[in-house]
Amino acid sequence: MTKRTVPSDTVNMSTECPFCGRMFTYTLYPEIHIPGDSRLKKKVLNKTLFFPKCPHCGEEIKLKPVCIYHDENRRVLFIVTDSPDMALENMIKSGNIHFNDIRTDDDVMGFMKGLYVRRVVHDVDAFREKILLSDCNYDDRIIELIKLSLSRILEKEKHMPVYRIFLEDTSGSMLEFTAIMGSRPPYEYITVTSAANIYNQYRDKYLHKLGRPEEDEYIMTDQKWAVNAGLLKDGPAGVVIPVD
Ligand SMILES: [Zn+2]
Repeated sequence: MTKRTVPSDTVNMSTECPFCGRMFTYTLYPEIHIPGDSRLKKKVLNKTLFFPKCPHCGEEIKLKPVCIYHDENRRVLFIVTDSPDMALENMIKSGNIHFNDIRTDDDVMGFMKGLYVRRVVHDVDAFREKILLSDCNYDDRIIELIKLSLSRILEKEKHMPVYRIFLEDTSGSMLEFTAIMGSRPPYEYITVTSAANIYNQYRDKYLHKLGRPEEDEYIMTDQKWAVNAGLLKDGPAGVVIPVD
């Protein structure tokens, strides 16, 4: 593997603004390599990287980017793509990864297999969450189980489905989640906070039931995975979560 110390390549893209219909150009960063690109990582975490502003009308646009995040020290590889099919997951499992915006050497992916935590996500919120969790040394599977418990509580209380839920912030001794609720737009955004030690409770209860996070079966660790894991079946969350 070659070490990258230079900043990653950028791609300039043109798009029609969905608000005012005029064309503008923004910069895409198809690859983020840590330690070299810590500035880009910060921009993902503070939500400025994937949200270009139209220079004509000032509206903010949420991109559906294809981006690869690779942290050499923490040994993680996260890919965000809007492609809903299983092709990418299979590419990562086999070690052969080919798609337009991202160049990777086959031997690099082969090297990562079994050694790296590899994840594929389909929206920038989930992508940001994976990076945030990695930075905080949280196991994303434990967080998915907590989110599933929270969702069940919220759905009972609000009488509507949780569309998506993700960890927003981990500041201090609190975990802050955002739940997007409803079955169709306009969705309701709800902030749920919980004491950070809930993570330890869930970790102690469930981590020994899971395999190594680097294994292929965890490439798509999301809410669907949490449901299919079936771990919360026996009893309601197991711990009480305070909901604001
Ligand atoms: Zn515009």
